[in-house]
Amino acid sequence: MYIDRLEVNFENKPCYDIVISDDFSNLRDELVKLDIEKKKICIVSDTNVAPLYLEAVKKELEGLNVFVHIFDAGERNKHLGTVSEIYDTLIYNKFDRKDILLALGGGVVGDICGFVAATYLRGIDFVQIPTTLLSQVDSSIGGKTGVDFKHYKNMVGAFYMPKLVYVNINTLNTLPKIEFTSGMGEVIKHGLIFDKDYYYWLFDNSEKILAGDPKALAHMVLVSQKIKKQVVENDPYEKGQRAILNFGHTLGHAIEREKEFVLSHGQCVGLGMLAAFDICIKKNKLTEGDRDFLKNLMEVYSFDTDTNMDMEKVFEATFNDKKMEAGKIKFILLDGIGRAFIDREVSKIDMLEALNSICK
Ligand code: NAD
Ligand code: MG
Repeated sequence: MYIDRLEVNFENKPCYDIVISDDFSNLRDELVKLDIEKKKICIVSDTNVAPLYLEAVKKELEGLNVFVHIFDAGERNKHLGTVSEIYDTLIYNKFDRKDILLALGGGVVGDICGFVAATYLRGIDFVQIPTTLLSQVDSSIGGKTGVDFKHYKNMVGAFYMPKLVYVNINTLNTLPKIEFTSGMGEVIKHGLIFDKDYYYWLFDNSEKILAGDPKALAHMVLVSQKIKKQVVENDPYEKGQRAILNFGHTLGHAIEREKEFVLSHGQCVGLGMLAAFDICIKKNKLTEGDRDFLKNLMEVYSFDTDTNMDMEKVFEATFNDKKMEAGKIKFILLDGIGRAFIDREVSKIDMLEALNSICK
C-alpha cells in the first residue's frame, strides 16, 4: 500500500520520485511508468538480502524479462571486481542501453549498482530499492554512486541519478539491530542539522520506533528523506551547503579508521557528533544540557556513547589527511539544535580535545 511520495529535483528540474510503501505491491505500477515491459531488467542484490526479498520482488515482475545478479554481502565487496562481474552478467545477457537495473539492498548494493548503471554502455537506467535504514534515508538519495579502491573509500564513482527510489518500510523488520542503530546515526544527524522539532520527536517516539511501529517508521523515513532531498537539491555536486550532511563525519571517520571499521558507520558518526558538541559548547553555541540530551538519545537507540582511542592513530588517520594539510577543513558545527554551519577555523587542538571528551 502506498504511504507517501516525494519528488526529487535535479538542477531545478523534476528528476525522480521516492515512493514509500509498506510492501512491494506498487512496484510494478511504478516501473510501468518507466516502460519496463519493453526492457530487460537485472535485479542486483547481495547474499543477505536476496534470500529475504528477491522472490517477493520477482513475483511483482512476473511475465517480464528478469535477470538476477547476486554478490557476497559486505563493504569488502564494494570494489571494481564486483562491478566487473556485473558487467559480465549484463554483456552475457545482451543488455543494451534501453535496459534497466534494480538495486535491491542496502547502501553497498545501491552504490555498486548505481556505478554500474552510470558506466555500462555510458549509462543505463537504474532503480533503487533500499532495504536498510541508512540506504532509505541517506545513500539512495542524491545520486552519489561508486566503489572503494584499494583501501580508499568511495574513491571511484560518479554522480548518477536513479529513475525511482522505491522504499518498502517493512524491509526494516529483518534488519539486524546494529544496522538499525547505524542508520539512526544519520537520522539523528538530520534532526540536528536541519529540524529541531524532528530531533525531539525522535526522542518522544523512540518506543514506537524501536518497536517497529510502521506509522512511526514511515514518518521518520519520510522526514529524513525530505531533509536529505532539500540539502542535495540545493547543492547537487557538493560545492557548498551539502557539506552540512557531513556533521559528525570528520571525527566520525577518524574514529571509524582507528577502530579499523569494527564499529558501524552510524555508530561512529554518533560519536563524531557527540565530540563535535564539545567544540560547539566551547563556542557557546550549545549547552551542556544539549550534550546530555544527545547522549541520552543515543543510548536510547543503543549507541555506545564513549570509547577508548589511541590518539596517536587518530592523529595519523585524520590530521595527515590532504584536506587537513590545506589547513582549511570544512568542519560542520551547530549554532543551536537544528542549525548547522560550516566553520573553517576549527583547529587540530579543538578536534583532539573534542575526541578526548568522548573517551572513557
Ligand atoms: P550494507 O548495504 O552493507 O547493508 C548492511 C548489512 O545489512 C549487509 O550485510 C546487508 O546484506 C544487510 N541487509 C540489507 N538490508 C537488509 C534487510 N532488510 N534485512 C536484513 N539484512 C539486510 O550497508 P548500508 O549501511 O546500507 O550502506 C553502507 C554503504 O553505503 C557504504 O558503502 C557507504 O559508503 C554507502 N553510502 C553511500 C552514500 C551515497 O550517497 N551514495 C551515502 C551514505 C553511505
Ligand atoms: Mg554517513
